[in-house]
Amino acid sequence: MTRLPAGRSLLAVALGVSWQHRLLRHHVVPAAWRRQCFGAGSKAEDSSPVTPLLKHLMFKIKSTGPITVAEYMREVLTNPVKGYYMHHDMLGEKGDFVTSPEISQIFGELIGIWYVSEWMATGKPKTLQLVELGPGRGTLTDDILRVFNQLGSLLNKCDISIHLVEVSPKLSEIQALTLTGGKIQSELDVTSPVYMKGISKAGIPIFWYRELQDVPQGTCFYLAHEFFDALPIHKFQRTEQGWREVLIDINPKAPDQLCFVLAPSATPATEYFIQGKEARDHVEVCPDAGILIQRLACRIQEDGGAALIADYGHNGNKTDTFRSFRSHKLHDVLIAPGTADLTADVDFSYLQTMTQGRVATLGPLKQQEFLKNMGIDVRLQVLLQNSSDTAMHKHLLQSYDMLMNPKKMGDRFNFFALLPHQRLARSDQKVNLQHTKSLSAPVAGFGELVWK
Ligand code: SAH
Repeated sequence: MTRLPAGRSLLAVALGVSWQHRLLRHHVVPAAWRRQCFGAGSKAEDSSPVTPLLKHLMFKIKSTGPITVAEYMREVLTNPVKGYYMHHDMLGEKGDFVTSPEISQIFGELIGIWYVSEWMATGKPKTLQLVELGPGRGTLTDDILRVFNQLGSLLNKCDISIHLVEVSPKLSEIQALTLTGGKIQSELDVTSPVYMKGISKAGIPIFWYRELQDVPQGTCFYLAHEFFDALPIHKFQRTEQGWREVLIDINPKAPDQLCFVLAPSATPATEYFIQGKEARDHVEVCPDAGILIQRLACRIQEDGGAALIADYGHNGNKTDTFRSFRSHKLHDVLIAPGTADLTADVDFSYLQTMTQGRVATLGPLKQQEFLKNMGIDVRLQVLLQNSSDTAMHKHLLQSYDMLMNPKKMGDRFNFFALLPHQRLARSDQKVNLQHTKSLSAPVAGFGELVWK
């Protein structure tokens, strides 16, 4: 029998959330997840089909010259007509990769508890806008909303709304189905930043936007899970003549294929993005991530709230992480663009720099540590005790292993948070006053969850 530590009755309620809802839909944990880290530019698995996107990119290169890796990534992933994310569902066993919320409901439930815990820690503001960037199939938000529903007595005076930033028409359709059962209204007013709205199964309003800037300001709690890794990166290489940007050109030996080339001279990008003290020979920089973090930091500085970012990544020490996945296998990044996912590890040290000190940051902390601090072991035990089905037990244990095993997702994925400075300052004072160890890391997940 699992014992819940004293003083955590609300957490106990949350960890005891009704479980039939999701688990019965997912019995099999896929053998591979998207973000296994292999070196970039591995063997191609298929021939080189000339996709519509390849034709488009070749036309572009012929007209205006080689393109940056960032431009390539942006086109391949989010071109409105043929972009990879735009018109099909790539998540899950039948797709190209699987993510933590798709593997186990426990993941989203613990994230839901994190938001309630932070909402409480910031003085229970009257409104709670949950803003998810890149919500995939809507599974994570759905699991979070189930926790909010379970903790209704705590949140009943709070005006909750959901704001989804999603560029893909196909995925937003799936999100709407997951979250509202399909009861949505497409916004016909082209001047409105909201392109779709609906009401969740529990009556919470949900709005869809294409960009973060469109989300109304207010006390927002932001979430980005496996979102930053999809943002376009620039690649640079050190040469004897100095730094050069890596570009993509038409392969002179195979005119229906693309290849990497180096810019013949330095460009404004090399000047602007490479730090003087840079020690690596290959560097990837994601300016879109930098801009987004600046926006999040400004909003949190002005309005409070918090942001939780979870992704695989590093602290400014990795070099070559640009890679592609198709059907859960590594794929050549330049072959058949538009038919496979493109991704690069998130540089958390860069994200931290780009907050420009406007907010406090916590992490990156390994997923296994974050989830342990959030009480994953207690939750697992509750679910195991609630079921006598051996297949269910197997699924629960397998998915726990996938999330927590350091060789699987446990060490590769990291949690990183942005918080208003006052949030930590207040807690630090408490630490000084009380000298208690448990308060020295007062933000749930980054320290053990303490929730009275
Ligand atoms: N968070 C989900 C899905 C991750 S896949 C999960 O963990 O399961 C990346 C998500 O980001 C998809 O929903 C994709 O459509 C969205 N996305 C990618 N680039 C985007 C952009 N530039 N703007 C908004 N959404 C984007």
